[in-house]
Amino acid sequence: MPLTGHCLCKAVTYSVDIEQPLMTGYDHCDDCQRQTGSSYSLIALVPKEKLRIYGDIKRWAGTGGSGNVVYRVFCPQCGSPIAHEPNSNPAISFLKAGTLDMEIKETLRPVRITRKILEASQG
Ligand SMILES: [Zn+2]
Repeated sequence: MPLTGHCLCKAVTYSVDIEQPLMTGYDHCDDCQRQTGSSYSLIALVPKEKLRIYGDIKRWAGTGGSGNVVYRVFCPQCGSPIAHEPNSNPAISFLKAGTLDMEIKETLRPVRITRKILEASQG
């Protein structure tokens, strides 16, 4: 079963052709706090080549903690964040795991994010 999810208004849906994320974790970085308005963002690391996004999205290029560009992918209709993608590692995407379908969210096993993953996340 692929991983599937959608934004709040369902104008944007996505599917990832894998059984489980490569990693799921809590990202407490300042950028994720601002984007979500929460104290952290639950992120699910997936290979970008397996990710298909349907519907119109916007990509905002911000600067990550390392000074490199990080794209913030979101629905322009409802504003839901869908993913963030470090320009320095075009092979990966960090899905905003709260947008996954409910039955998938219930199977996630978040881990503490290591510095290495956090640095990869921030470009
Ligand atoms: Zn939407």
